Amino acid sequence: MSRLAAVRLSHFLPSLLLLSGGMLAGGLPSLSEFFTSLFNVLPTLLLLLGGTFCLVYGRQRELFLLLVLYLGYFLLDIQLDHYRAEGRVRDDAALVFHLCSVLLPLLYGLYAAWRERTHLLQDLVARAAVLLAVGGVALALAQRYPQALLQWLAVIRWPSLHGEWMSLVQLAYPLFLLGFIVLLVQYLRAPRPLHAAQLLGLGGLLWMLPNIFTQAHALNVMSSLVMLMLVAAVAHEAYQMAFRDELTGLPGRRALNERLQRLGRCYVIAMADVDHFKKFNDSHGHDVGDQVLRLVASQLRKIGGGGKAYRYGGEEFTLVFPGRTLEECLPHLEAVRQAVETYRLQLRDKESRPGDDQQGRRRRGRAGAGEVSVTVSMGVAERGAQQGNPEEVIKAADQALYSAKSAGRNCIRSHGQRRGAIRLNGVRA
Ligand code: GH3
Ligand code: MG
Ligand code: MG
Repeated sequence: MSRLAAVRLSHFLPSLLLLSGGMLAGGLPSLSEFFTSLFNVLPTLLLLLGGTFCLVYGRQRELFLLLVLYLGYFLLDIQLDHYRAEGRVRDDAALVFHLCSVLLPLLYGLYAAWRERTHLLQDLVARAAVLLAVGGVALALAQRYPQALLQWLAVIRWPSLHGEWMSLVQLAYPLFLLGFIVLLVQYLRAPRPLHAAQLLGLGGLLWMLPNIFTQAHALNVMSSLVMLMLVAAVAHEAYQMAFRDELTGLPGRRALNERLQRLGRCYVIAMADVDHFKKFNDSHGHDVGDQVLRLVASQLRKIGGGGKAYRYGGEEFTLVFPGRTLEECLPHLEAVRQAVETYRLQLRDKESRPGDDQQGRRRRGRAGAGEVSVTVSMGVAERGAQQGNPEEVIKAADQALYSAKSAGRNCIRSHGQRRGAIRLNGVRA
Protein backbone atom coordinates (compact mmCIF):
# COMPACT_ATOMS: atom_id res chain seq x y z
CA MET A 1 0.00 0.00 0.00
CA SER A 2 1.46 3.40 -0.92
CA ARG A 3 2.02 5.95 1.80
CA LEU A 4 -0.41 8.37 0.24
CA ALA A 5 -3.12 5.73 0.14
CA ALA A 6 -2.69 5.39 3.87
CA VAL A 7 -3.49 9.09 4.37
CA ARG A 8 -6.97 8.66 5.65
CA LEU A 9 -9.74 11.15 5.98
CA SER A 10 -10.78 9.36 9.18
CA HIS A 11 -7.48 10.46 10.76
CA PHE A 12 -8.28 14.11 10.08
CA LEU A 13 -12.05 14.22 10.34
CA PRO A 14 -12.51 14.55 14.14
CA SER A 15 -9.78 17.22 14.39
CA LEU A 16 -11.06 18.98 11.29
CA LEU A 17 -14.55 19.19 12.79
CA LEU A 18 -13.17 20.50 16.08
CA LEU A 19 -10.95 23.02 14.27
CA SER A 20 -13.81 24.38 12.15
CA GLY A 21 -16.09 24.40 15.21
CA GLY A 22 -13.40 26.31 17.10
CA MET A 23 -12.93 28.87 14.33
CA LEU A 24 -16.67 29.33 14.12
CA ALA A 25 -17.39 29.59 17.85
CA GLY A 26 -14.16 31.48 18.59
CA GLY A 27 -15.04 34.05 15.94
CA LEU A 28 -18.54 34.74 17.30
CA PRO A 29 -18.93 38.18 18.92
CA SER A 30 -20.69 36.64 21.92
CA LEU A 31 -21.44 33.22 23.31
CA SER A 32 -24.30 32.14 25.54
CA GLU A 33 -23.65 32.16 29.28
CA PHE A 34 -23.50 28.38 29.31
CA PHE A 35 -20.81 28.16 26.61
CA THR A 36 -18.85 31.06 28.08
CA SER A 37 -18.67 29.24 31.42
CA LEU A 38 -17.95 25.95 29.69
CA PHE A 39 -14.99 27.31 27.72
CA ASN A 40 -13.71 29.05 30.84
CA VAL A 41 -13.25 25.74 32.63
CA LEU A 42 -12.60 23.43 29.68
CA PRO A 43 -8.84 24.04 29.29
CA THR A 44 -8.25 23.28 32.99
CA LEU A 45 -10.57 20.30 32.90
CA LEU A 46 -8.87 18.89 29.79
CA LEU A 47 -5.44 19.37 31.29
CA LEU A 48 -6.48 17.51 34.43
CA LEU A 49 -8.43 14.68 32.80
CA GLY A 50 -6.39 14.32 29.61
CA GLY A 51 -3.11 14.86 31.44
CA THR A 52 -3.89 12.18 34.03
CA PHE A 53 -4.94 9.78 31.29
CA CYS A 54 -1.71 10.44 29.35
CA LEU A 55 0.41 10.12 32.48
CA VAL A 56 -1.16 6.81 33.51
CA TYR A 57 -0.83 5.33 30.02
CA GLY A 58 2.69 6.63 29.38
CA ARG A 59 1.76 9.12 26.65
CA GLN A 60 4.30 11.77 27.59
CA ARG A 61 4.29 13.44 24.24
CA GLU A 62 0.62 14.36 24.52
CA LEU A 63 0.98 15.19 28.20
CA PHE A 64 3.60 17.82 27.38
CA LEU A 65 1.64 19.12 24.43
CA LEU A 66 -1.32 19.65 26.76
CA LEU A 67 0.97 21.34 29.28
CA VAL A 68 2.45 23.71 26.69
CA LEU A 69 -1.00 24.60 25.40
CA TYR A 70 -2.28 25.18 28.91
CA LEU A 71 0.68 27.36 29.87
CA GLY A 72 0.16 29.49 26.77
CA TYR A 73 -3.55 29.73 27.54
CA PHE A 74 -2.91 30.60 31.19
CA LEU A 75 -0.41 33.40 30.45
CA LEU A 76 -2.56 34.97 27.75
CA ASP A 77 -5.75 34.61 29.79
CA ILE A 78 -4.22 36.71 32.60
CA GLN A 79 -3.63 39.45 30.05
CA LEU A 80 -7.14 39.18 28.69
CA ASP A 81 -8.73 39.24 32.15
CA HIS A 82 -6.85 42.41 32.96
CA TYR A 83 -7.85 43.96 29.66
CA ARG A 84 -11.52 43.13 30.27
CA ALA A 85 -11.48 44.37 33.86
CA GLU A 86 -9.44 47.58 33.37
CA GLY A 87 -10.23 48.40 29.79
CA ARG A 88 -6.51 48.60 28.94
CA VAL A 89 -3.71 46.08 28.53
CA ARG A 90 -1.10 45.38 31.18
CA ASP A 91 2.36 46.89 30.80
CA ASP A 92 3.89 43.56 29.95
CA ALA A 93 1.12 42.58 27.48
CA ALA A 94 3.19 43.06 24.33
CA LEU A 95 6.14 41.12 25.73
CA VAL A 96 4.00 38.21 26.96
CA PHE A 97 2.04 38.05 23.72
CA HIS A 98 5.13 38.13 21.49
CA LEU A 99 6.91 35.56 23.65
CA CYS A 100 3.88 33.26 23.46
CA SER A 101 3.67 33.74 19.67
CA VAL A 102 7.23 32.49 19.36
CA LEU A 103 7.41 29.89 22.13
CA LEU A 104 4.04 28.23 21.45
CA PRO A 105 4.83 27.05 17.88
CA LEU A 106 8.42 26.25 18.92
CA LEU A 107 7.56 24.09 21.94
CA TYR A 108 4.43 22.63 20.37
CA GLY A 109 6.37 21.59 17.25
CA LEU A 110 9.22 20.24 19.34
CA TYR A 111 7.07 18.10 21.63
CA ALA A 112 4.83 16.94 18.79
CA ALA A 113 7.82 15.69 16.79
CA TRP A 114 9.66 14.24 19.80
CA ARG A 115 9.03 10.51 19.73
CA GLU A 116 8.49 8.65 22.97
CA ARG A 117 11.38 6.59 24.23
CA THR A 118 11.03 3.19 25.81
CA HIS A 119 12.27 4.37 29.19
CA LEU A 120 9.27 6.30 30.50
CA LEU A 121 10.90 8.06 33.42
CA GLN A 122 13.93 9.25 31.43
CA ASP A 123 11.62 10.49 28.71
CA LEU A 124 9.49 12.36 31.23
CA VAL A 125 12.53 13.94 32.88
CA ALA A 126 14.05 14.99 29.54
CA ARG A 127 10.83 16.65 28.40
CA ALA A 128 10.34 18.38 31.75
CA ALA A 129 13.96 19.60 31.65
CA VAL A 130 13.47 21.17 28.22
CA LEU A 131 10.26 22.88 29.32
CA LEU A 132 11.88 24.19 32.49
CA ALA A 133 15.00 25.35 30.63
CA VAL A 134 13.13 27.18 27.87
CA GLY A 135 10.55 28.59 30.31
CA GLY A 136 13.25 29.56 32.82
CA VAL A 137 15.43 31.36 30.26
CA ALA A 138 12.41 33.18 28.79
CA LEU A 139 11.24 34.25 32.27
CA ALA A 140 14.70 35.39 33.34
CA LEU A 141 15.22 37.42 30.17
CA ALA A 142 11.72 38.89 30.39
CA GLN A 143 12.34 40.04 33.96
CA ARG A 144 15.87 41.29 33.52
CA TYR A 145 15.84 42.80 30.04
CA PRO A 146 12.18 43.35 29.15
CA GLN A 147 12.79 46.20 26.71
CA ALA A 148 15.70 44.58 24.91
CA LEU A 149 13.80 41.29 24.62
CA LEU A 150 10.71 43.04 23.30
CA GLN A 151 12.78 44.85 20.68
CA TRP A 152 14.57 41.66 19.70
CA LEU A 153 11.25 39.85 19.27
CA ALA A 154 9.50 42.63 17.38
CA VAL A 155 12.28 43.46 14.95
CA ILE A 156 11.46 42.82 11.28
CA ARG A 157 14.32 40.60 10.20
CA TRP A 158 13.34 40.05 6.60
CA PRO A 159 11.66 43.24 5.32
CA SER A 160 11.12 41.84 1.83
CA LEU A 161 9.12 38.94 3.26
CA HIS A 162 7.02 41.06 5.56
CA GLY A 163 3.33 41.37 4.78
CA GLU A 164 0.74 43.79 6.14
CA TRP A 165 -1.42 40.86 7.21
CA MET A 166 1.23 39.60 9.65
CA SER A 167 -0.17 40.48 13.04
CA LEU A 168 2.29 38.30 14.94
CA VAL A 169 5.98 39.07 15.26
CA GLN A 170 7.78 38.08 12.09
CA LEU A 171 9.83 35.43 13.87
CA ALA A 172 6.65 33.47 14.66
CA TYR A 173 5.90 32.70 11.01
CA PRO A 174 9.03 30.71 10.11
CA LEU A 175 8.53 28.77 13.35
CA PHE A 176 4.96 27.91 12.39
CA LEU A 177 6.12 27.03 8.87
CA LEU A 178 8.87 24.79 10.21
CA GLY A 179 6.36 23.17 12.59
CA PHE A 180 3.94 22.49 9.74
CA ILE A 181 6.66 20.94 7.57
CA VAL A 182 7.98 18.72 10.36
CA LEU A 183 4.51 17.58 11.42
CA LEU A 184 3.40 16.99 7.83
CA VAL A 185 6.48 14.85 7.16
CA GLN A 186 5.84 13.02 10.41
CA TYR A 187 2.26 12.29 9.35
CA LEU A 188 3.29 11.12 5.88
CA ARG A 189 5.92 8.81 7.35
CA ALA A 190 3.53 7.44 9.94
CA PRO A 191 -0.12 8.19 9.13
CA ARG A 192 -1.78 8.07 12.56
CA PRO A 193 -4.76 9.93 14.04
CA LEU A 194 -2.48 11.56 16.59
CA HIS A 195 -0.07 12.90 13.97
CA ALA A 196 -3.04 14.30 12.03
CA ALA A 197 -4.42 15.93 15.18
CA GLN A 198 -1.04 17.49 15.99
CA LEU A 199 -0.83 18.97 12.51
CA LEU A 200 -4.31 20.48 12.65
CA GLY A 201 -3.73 21.59 16.25
CA LEU A 202 -0.86 23.76 15.05
CA GLY A 203 -3.27 25.24 12.50
CA GLY A 204 -5.62 26.04 15.39
CA LEU A 205 -2.84 27.92 17.18
CA LEU A 206 -1.98 29.89 14.07
CA TRP A 207 -5.62 30.97 13.82
CA MET A 208 -5.94 31.68 17.54
CA LEU A 209 -2.93 33.91 18.27
CA PRO A 210 -3.73 36.88 15.96
CA ASN A 211 -7.39 36.80 17.07
CA ILE A 212 -6.91 36.83 20.82
CA PHE A 213 -7.42 40.55 21.38
CA THR A 214 -9.95 41.04 18.59
CA GLN A 215 -12.28 38.05 19.14
CA ALA A 216 -13.60 37.77 22.68
CA HIS A 217 -13.59 33.96 22.86
CA ALA A 218 -10.81 32.99 20.47
CA LEU A 219 -8.35 32.07 23.26
CA ASN A 220 -10.67 30.00 25.46
CA VAL A 221 -12.45 28.26 22.62
CA MET A 222 -9.44 27.40 20.47
CA SER A 223 -7.20 26.38 23.38
CA SER A 224 -9.96 24.04 24.56
CA LEU A 225 -10.54 22.58 21.14
CA VAL A 226 -6.89 22.02 20.29
CA MET A 227 -6.49 20.23 23.64
CA LEU A 228 -9.65 18.27 22.89
CA MET A 229 -8.24 17.28 19.46
CA LEU A 230 -5.21 15.76 21.13
CA VAL A 231 -7.19 13.96 23.83
CA ALA A 232 -9.65 12.66 21.21
CA ALA A 233 -6.76 11.44 19.04
CA VAL A 234 -5.26 9.57 22.00
CA ALA A 235 -8.65 7.93 22.61
CA HIS A 236 -8.98 7.17 18.87
CA GLU A 237 -5.61 5.43 18.86
CA ALA A 238 -6.43 3.50 22.02
CA TYR A 239 -9.60 2.25 20.31
CA GLN A 240 -7.60 1.30 17.20
CA MET A 241 -5.06 -0.56 19.31
CA ALA A 242 -7.82 -2.60 20.89
CA PHE A 243 -9.82 -3.31 17.75
CA ARG A 244 -7.38 -3.16 14.85
CA ASP A 245 -4.66 -5.63 14.01
CA GLU A 246 -1.42 -3.69 13.79
CA LEU A 247 0.34 -5.86 11.19
CA THR A 248 -2.39 -6.01 8.57
CA GLY A 249 -4.54 -3.00 9.47
CA LEU A 250 -7.64 -5.21 9.40
CA PRO A 251 -10.03 -5.23 12.34
CA GLY A 252 -8.85 -7.86 14.79
CA ARG A 253 -10.37 -10.63 16.85
CA ARG A 254 -12.00 -8.30 19.38
CA ALA A 255 -13.74 -6.37 16.60
CA LEU A 256 -14.89 -9.68 15.11
CA ASN A 257 -16.35 -10.80 18.44
CA GLU A 258 -18.22 -7.52 18.70
CA ARG A 259 -19.57 -7.90 15.16
CA LEU A 260 -20.67 -11.47 15.81
CA GLN A 261 -22.91 -10.27 18.65
CA ARG A 262 -24.83 -8.05 16.24
CA LEU A 263 -25.48 -10.42 13.34
CA GLY A 264 -29.10 -10.98 12.40
CA ARG A 265 -30.80 -14.23 11.45
CA CYS A 266 -29.16 -14.64 8.06
CA TYR A 267 -25.44 -14.47 7.50
CA VAL A 268 -22.45 -16.31 6.12
CA ILE A 269 -19.02 -16.71 7.66
CA ALA A 270 -15.88 -17.79 5.79
CA MET A 271 -12.56 -18.79 7.33
CA ALA A 272 -9.49 -18.25 5.13
CA ASP A 273 -6.07 -19.74 5.86
CA VAL A 274 -2.78 -19.16 4.02
CA ASP A 275 -1.48 -22.38 2.47
CA HIS A 276 1.87 -23.78 3.62
CA PHE A 277 2.60 -20.62 5.50
CA LYS A 278 4.94 -22.27 7.94
CA LYS A 279 7.17 -23.47 5.12
CA PHE A 280 7.03 -20.01 3.66
CA ASN A 281 8.17 -18.47 6.92
CA ASP A 282 10.92 -21.06 7.27
CA SER A 283 12.37 -20.53 3.80
CA HIS A 284 11.96 -16.76 3.40
CA GLY A 285 12.00 -15.55 6.99
CA HIS A 286 9.46 -13.98 9.30
CA ASP A 287 9.67 -10.54 7.67
CA VAL A 288 8.61 -11.89 4.29
CA GLY A 289 5.94 -13.91 6.11
CA ASP A 290 4.63 -10.65 7.52
CA GLN A 291 4.65 -9.09 4.04
CA VAL A 292 2.59 -12.04 2.82
CA LEU A 293 0.06 -11.55 5.59
CA ARG A 294 -0.25 -7.89 4.62
CA LEU A 295 -0.72 -8.84 0.99
CA VAL A 296 -3.41 -11.41 1.80
CA ALA A 297 -5.13 -8.90 4.08
CA SER A 298 -5.06 -6.22 1.39
CA GLN A 299 -6.81 -8.59 -1.03
CA LEU A 300 -9.33 -9.83 1.53
CA ARG A 301 -10.17 -6.23 2.44
CA LYS A 302 -11.47 -5.77 -1.11
CA ILE A 303 -14.06 -8.53 -0.72
CA GLY A 304 -17.37 -7.61 -2.37
CA GLY A 305 -20.91 -8.75 -1.63
CA GLY A 306 -21.18 -6.80 1.61
CA GLY A 307 -18.48 -8.90 3.26
CA LYS A 308 -15.96 -7.65 5.78
CA ALA A 309 -12.58 -9.16 6.56
CA TYR A 310 -11.06 -9.62 10.02
CA ARG A 311 -7.76 -11.09 11.14
CA TYR A 312 -8.75 -14.06 13.25
CA GLY A 313 -5.20 -14.75 14.40
CA GLY A 314 -1.88 -15.97 12.93
CA GLU A 315 -2.40 -16.59 9.21
CA GLU A 316 -6.15 -17.08 9.54
CA PHE A 317 -8.75 -14.57 8.49
CA THR A 318 -12.51 -14.42 8.87
CA LEU A 319 -14.95 -12.95 6.37
CA VAL A 320 -18.41 -12.04 7.57
CA PHE A 321 -21.35 -11.48 5.22
CA PRO A 322 -24.39 -10.17 7.10
CA GLY A 323 -27.78 -10.75 5.44
CA ARG A 324 -26.37 -12.94 2.65
CA THR A 325 -26.83 -16.52 1.56
CA LEU A 326 -24.06 -18.95 0.74
CA GLU A 327 -24.77 -18.78 -3.02
CA GLU A 328 -24.51 -15.00 -2.98
CA CYS A 329 -21.12 -15.05 -1.25
CA LEU A 330 -19.33 -17.81 -3.14
CA PRO A 331 -18.50 -15.77 -6.29
CA HIS A 332 -17.00 -12.99 -4.16
CA LEU A 333 -14.90 -15.43 -2.17
CA GLU A 334 -13.73 -17.08 -5.36
CA ALA A 335 -12.75 -13.69 -6.80
CA VAL A 336 -10.62 -12.94 -3.75
CA ARG A 337 -9.05 -16.41 -3.77
CA GLN A 338 -8.03 -15.88 -7.38
CA ALA A 339 -6.76 -12.38 -6.69
CA VAL A 340 -4.44 -13.74 -3.98
CA GLU A 341 -3.28 -16.57 -6.25
CA THR A 342 -2.41 -14.32 -9.18
CA TYR A 343 -0.71 -11.61 -7.12
CA ARG A 344 3.08 -11.64 -7.31
CA LEU A 345 4.76 -10.38 -4.20
CA GLN A 346 8.05 -8.60 -4.86
CA LEU A 347 10.62 -9.64 -2.26
CA ARG A 348 12.09 -6.49 -0.75
CA ASP A 349 14.80 -8.08 1.32
CA LYS A 350 17.51 -9.62 -0.83
CA GLU A 351 18.93 -11.64 2.03
CA SER A 352 15.66 -13.45 2.57
CA ARG A 353 15.66 -14.67 -1.03
CA PRO A 354 16.98 -18.17 -1.56
CA GLY A 355 20.60 -17.99 -2.74
CA ASP A 356 20.63 -20.99 -5.04
CA ASP A 357 18.73 -20.18 -8.23
CA GLN A 358 17.41 -23.65 -8.78
CA GLN A 359 16.28 -23.96 -5.21
CA GLY A 360 14.70 -20.51 -5.43
CA ARG A 361 12.78 -21.38 -8.56
CA ARG A 362 11.48 -24.52 -6.92
CA ARG A 363 10.31 -22.58 -3.87
CA ARG A 364 8.72 -19.82 -5.83
CA GLY A 365 6.83 -22.12 -8.10
CA ARG A 366 5.59 -20.20 -11.13
CA ALA A 367 6.53 -16.77 -9.85
CA GLY A 368 9.44 -14.87 -11.48
CA ALA A 369 12.82 -14.05 -9.93
CA GLY A 370 12.56 -12.04 -6.71
CA GLU A 371 8.84 -12.75 -6.62
CA VAL A 372 6.72 -15.12 -4.62
CA SER A 373 3.11 -16.08 -4.80
CA VAL A 374 0.81 -17.45 -2.15
CA THR A 375 -2.55 -19.15 -2.09
CA VAL A 376 -5.33 -19.37 0.45
CA SER A 377 -7.87 -22.05 1.24
CA MET A 378 -11.31 -21.14 2.48
CA GLY A 379 -14.11 -22.84 4.34
CA VAL A 380 -17.53 -21.25 4.35
CA ALA A 381 -20.76 -21.86 6.24
CA GLU A 382 -24.08 -20.13 6.65
CA ARG A 383 -26.43 -19.87 9.56
CA GLY A 384 -28.90 -22.73 9.42
CA ALA A 385 -30.85 -25.22 11.47
CA GLN A 386 -27.74 -27.08 12.64
CA GLN A 387 -25.60 -24.07 13.38
CA GLY A 388 -27.79 -21.40 14.89
CA ASN A 389 -25.23 -19.04 16.47
CA PRO A 390 -22.05 -17.40 15.17
CA GLU A 391 -19.71 -19.67 17.18
CA GLU A 392 -21.30 -22.74 15.59
CA VAL A 393 -21.16 -21.18 12.12
CA ILE A 394 -17.45 -20.42 12.61
CA LYS A 395 -16.89 -24.00 13.73
CA ALA A 396 -18.69 -25.27 10.63
CA ALA A 397 -16.63 -22.93 8.41
CA ASP A 398 -13.49 -24.26 10.12
CA GLN A 399 -14.49 -27.84 9.32
CA ALA A 400 -15.08 -26.83 5.71
CA LEU A 401 -11.64 -25.18 5.69
CA TYR A 402 -10.14 -28.44 6.88
CA SER A 403 -11.86 -30.18 3.93
CA ALA A 404 -10.47 -27.55 1.55
CA LYS A 405 -6.96 -28.28 2.85
CA SER A 406 -7.49 -32.02 2.40
CA ALA A 407 -8.83 -31.42 -1.10
CA GLY A 408 -5.48 -29.98 -2.18
CA ARG A 409 -5.58 -26.35 -0.87
CA ASN A 410 -6.02 -23.13 -2.93
CA CYS A 411 -9.77 -23.80 -3.06
CA ILE A 412 -13.05 -23.05 -1.31
CA ARG A 413 -15.18 -25.60 0.38
CA SER A 414 -18.56 -24.97 1.93
CA HIS A 415 -19.96 -26.70 4.97
CA GLY A 416 -22.14 -29.65 4.08
CA GLN A 417 -20.70 -29.89 0.59
CA ARG A 418 -20.51 -33.62 -0.14
CA ARG A 419 -17.69 -34.06 -2.63
CA GLY A 420 -14.79 -32.06 -3.98
CA ALA A 421 -14.01 -28.42 -3.50
CA ILE A 422 -14.85 -25.32 -5.48
CA ARG A 423 -11.72 -24.40 -7.37
CA LEU A 424 -10.69 -22.12 -10.18
CA ASN A 425 -13.90 -20.49 -11.37
CA GLY A 426 -16.04 -22.87 -9.42
CA VAL A 427 -14.79 -26.04 -11.16
CA ARG A 428 -14.88 -28.92 -8.71
CA ALA A 429 -11.67 -30.77 -8.06
P1 GH3 B 1 -1.53 -25.21 5.95
O1 GH3 B 1 -1.41 -25.10 4.48
O2 GH3 B 1 -2.01 -26.55 6.39
O3 GH3 B 1 -2.35 -24.11 6.54
O4 GH3 B 1 -0.07 -25.07 6.54
P2 GH3 B 1 0.54 -23.88 7.32
O5 GH3 B 1 2.02 -24.05 7.33
O6 GH3 B 1 0.05 -22.59 6.78
O7 GH3 B 1 -0.13 -24.01 8.74
P3 GH3 B 1 0.38 -23.89 10.21
O8 GH3 B 1 -0.81 -23.57 11.04
O9 GH3 B 1 1.13 -25.14 10.56
O10 GH3 B 1 1.40 -22.68 10.24
C1 GH3 B 1 1.03 -21.41 10.58
C2 GH3 B 1 2.30 -20.62 10.78
O11 GH3 B 1 1.99 -19.23 10.76
C3 GH3 B 1 2.96 -20.84 12.10
C4 GH3 B 1 3.55 -19.49 12.47
O12 GH3 B 1 4.96 -19.57 12.40
C5 GH3 B 1 3.07 -18.58 11.39
N1 GH3 B 1 2.54 -17.30 11.88
C6 GH3 B 1 1.51 -17.07 12.71
N2 GH3 B 1 1.34 -15.74 12.92
C7 GH3 B 1 2.30 -15.09 12.21
C8 GH3 B 1 2.67 -13.72 12.00
O13 GH3 B 1 2.05 -12.79 12.53
N3 GH3 B 1 3.72 -13.45 11.20
C9 GH3 B 1 4.42 -14.45 10.58
N4 GH3 B 1 5.43 -14.13 9.79
N5 GH3 B 1 4.12 -15.75 10.76
C10 GH3 B 1 3.08 -16.09 11.56
MG1 MG C 1 -3.49 -22.09 10.23
MG1 MG D 1 -1.97 -22.15 6.90
